[in-house]
Amino acid sequence: MSKSPLPTRAKIVIIGGGVGGTSVAFHLAELGEKDVILLDRNELTSGSTFHSAGLVGQLRADPTLTKMNMHSVDLYRRLQKTDTPPSWRECGSIKLATTPERMEEIRRQIGWARTFNLDLKEISPKEAQELFPLMDLEGVIGASYLASDGQVDPSQLAMAMAAGARAGGVQIFTHTRVLSIQTEKSRVKSVTTDKGVIECEVIVNCGGMYAPSIARMVDVRVPIVPMSHQYLITDNFMDPNAPLLPSLRDPDSLIYFRQEVQGLLMGGYERNSKAWSADYQNFDDIPANFNNQLLGEDWDRFEEIAVNSQRRVPKMSEIGVKSFINGPEGFTPDNEFCLGETEVGGFFVAAGFCAHGIAGAGGIGKVVAEWVVAGEPTMDLWHMDIKRFGASYRSPDFTLKRISENYEAYYDIHYPGEERQSARPGKKSPAYDWHAANTAVFGEKSSWERVNYYANHESDDSLKPYGWAGKHWSSAVAAEHRATRVNAGLFDESSFAKAIVSGAQAAEFLNWVCANDVVKGVGRTVYTQALNTRGGIESDYTVTQTGDSEFFIITGTAFSTHDFGWLEKQKREGGFNDVTIKVVTEDFACFALMGPKARTILSKATDYDLSHANFPFMHSREINIAGTKVRATRLTYVGELGWEIYAPVADGKKVWEALIAAGAGEGLMPCGYRAIESLRLEKGYRAWAGEINTETNPIEAGLSFAVSKKKEKFIGKDALNNAKQTRKLVALTFDDIRQVPLGNEPVRINGSVVGRVKSGGQGYTINKAIGYAYLPLEHTTPGTTVDVEFFGTWATGVICEEPLFDPENSKIRL
Ligand SMILES: Cc1cc2nc3c(=O)[nH]c(=O)nc-3n(C[C@H](O)[C@H](O)[C@H](O)COP(=O)(O)OP(=O)(O)OC[C@H]3O[C@@H](n4cnc5c(N)ncnc54)[C@H](O)[C@@H]3O)c2cc1C
Repeated sequence: MSKSPLPTRAKIVIIGGGVGGTSVAFHLAELGEKDVILLDRNELTSGSTFHSAGLVGQLRADPTLTKMNMHSVDLYRRLQKTDTPPSWRECGSIKLATTPERMEEIRRQIGWARTFNLDLKEISPKEAQELFPLMDLEGVIGASYLASDGQVDPSQLAMAMAAGARAGGVQIFTHTRVLSIQTEKSRVKSVTTDKGVIECEVIVNCGGMYAPSIARMVDVRVPIVPMSHQYLITDNFMDPNAPLLPSLRDPDSLIYFRQEVQGLLMGGYERNSKAWSADYQNFDDIPANFNNQLLGEDWDRFEEIAVNSQRRVPKMSEIGVKSFINGPEGFTPDNEFCLGETEVGGFFVAAGFCAHGIAGAGGIGKVVAEWVVAGEPTMDLWHMDIKRFGASYRSPDFTLKRISENYEAYYDIHYPGEERQSARPGKKSPAYDWHAANTAVFGEKSSWERVNYYANHESDDSLKPYGWAGKHWSSAVAAEHRATRVNAGLFDESSFAKAIVSGAQAAEFLNWVCANDVVKGVGRTVYTQALNTRGGIESDYTVTQTGDSEFFIITGTAFSTHDFGWLEKQKREGGFNDVTIKVVTEDFACFALMGPKARTILSKATDYDLSHANFPFMHSREINIAGTKVRATRLTYVGELGWEIYAPVADGKKVWEALIAAGAGEGLMPCGYRAIESLRLEKGYRAWAGEINTETNPIEAGLSFAVSKKKEKFIGKDALNNAKQTRKLVALTFDDIRQVPLGNEPVRINGSVVGRVKSGGQGYTINKAIGYAYLPLEHTTPGTTVDVEFFGTWATGVICEEPLFDPENSKIRL
């Protein structure tokens, strides 16, 4: 460690010397950043890292994370050849299936591993046993094998990355505790340690389970809770000359194994999880001296896992236990990392690795270092972005309930459409009671209760998708879809994130941030994207000009922190001091009335002239409904004539009931979010985090129409103009409406894999299953036949002209 005195300034300060901090330091050095300091309050690796089990598995449920873990393996191989090798051993790994559902999961994973050139293979139970002879095959129906997975010594790994960082110019100071952090104009300015103050431009909080307490120094909430996580190591009993066993995961039994010297290391995820220092009232204060320490053995909670392990590996009941490890590890509410820049400029976080931080460290360090240098993520990291968490996570009770639920379901199969059960009901629309009384089945998004569908619309299961897509399916969705296309649907979208942007520079600011020209005059509404400097889509929303210097922005329920945080960042960095961004999500209810009869129905609820001439498409007006002044905006996300109606929350219920009453006799049906999804897929409307994200640009996504040709400058314009277009988003259809892609399935043309599905669903009007995929330009001609792999078997679909429904927009502009 550095013997020099602590510098008084550095460009970048990393807090934490576990695998997270050392990897960020290593990758910053690789990117040429030399003015970097890493601080740890104790020794390197003295947090969670030193007691890790060290398994490195690459395949995860998310393509980005899988790519990151593949980078980890590349890096660990590379480090193994240096003077400070981390004991990387490429022993391979086996995953067992003991249920048909698990086998389906394995086959699905094999499918999308193919799209990364990751050599995941299906093997028979017998082959699995040949690779891991200590195993009993009771109940095993199949397995997968990945030869390039492995194991590593976690402490040596951190030391190897620290050595690489130091060689690249990073200075490391141990026994240097960060006591406070200073900010100026919402940006970091300095850190105060017990050895002195360091002025800096960027801080990366790599504090693992300590990250929340570090973030509290700048009033940032990092929703991580230290959870007790346990494993044991047996006495040595194996032949020292035998080849190293592969790691073995048996998720249906909640257990994993790897060879440790000549014994076995065995751990798992208990069904009765236990937070260490946090409780339902308090955050997660960790004792000031908790380093290089473990928790007490908790055999009671480990019993189920121990029993399961003896069933799978009978030898476990014969051999002694050499050591039992109970170590705390930082878990997040969705088992994904917390990465990226927070609402405080220059304050980054890379923590909450949920017991896969050793597998993830290489990739985490790479993407976070790139993010720090570029000022924005260089790949789609939405699932790991700290900005995915809304305000509810400021509550210790909410956070802990969510984390416990996730920990206990760690090894479960997660089917699409699955809903969280903990900490519910959450936030409610003013019409919630009406929905509940009318058989609504609620889902949850960003802690909002939202109607998925109404159970009383259910009929028969003749359209039920095969396999996973059918698990949480309801026939009510088809009924609600059809009612919207034929008559009208009324959707409660009160959870939409809403903000008012105002001030003398508001117009100039928004036209700098947005790709479309959003300043078209009071009463006009514009659909736009906000791009990053690479031309990728950071946000996707509508902007309504409500005054000369006032704009109303509507974005998706889950994107409030992300999208409005992006606006705040651009405001800060662009010096737009005369701009105010006020989040008003909970001030307004939003009801969308959509369908051919929308005008007829709305006319019964208001005396405003709704004719096309007086109230054209993409215009917004204040009108009266049930004696309440509401904002009605004429637009659609389902491909029908319609209005979104924004009412003050206090009058929301009254307005909802007035709309329902106006629809009596017109075939109006209250509808849920699942119907919106089906309707918008059919019409080809894009969803951020679905078909579009920070890695896709508007041209390849088919959104050039929403990019201003006139504006001289906006963020991302140059990158977009210079981008070489190599791929395009295409719509695929399948004649069998029950053959529904879920996303990530490989797409094959003429026998070669050319892409993977981004999103999919059912189109109840066109009577086909739908998928969207980015494919190389040369393969995007409509009419081209494609093969898509569903759980190990290939089904044929076709690339279609877009949009699949109402290509003339005749339903909308009338
Ligand atoms: C029992 C167990 C088994 C595991 N098994 C596996 C496995 O098999 N595979 C896998 O991939 N992952 C596994 N993990 C997870 C993995 O160990 C962790 O994800 C990883 O080590 C976390 O690293 P980190 O750098 O984020 O945090 P840490 O290693 O905890 O590092 C954080 C550092 O921050 C320092 N710090 C805190 N506050 C301050 C301050 N104010 N000033 C300065 N420094 C500060 C601490 O001293 C600490 O050194 C396991 C975890 C546990 C507990």
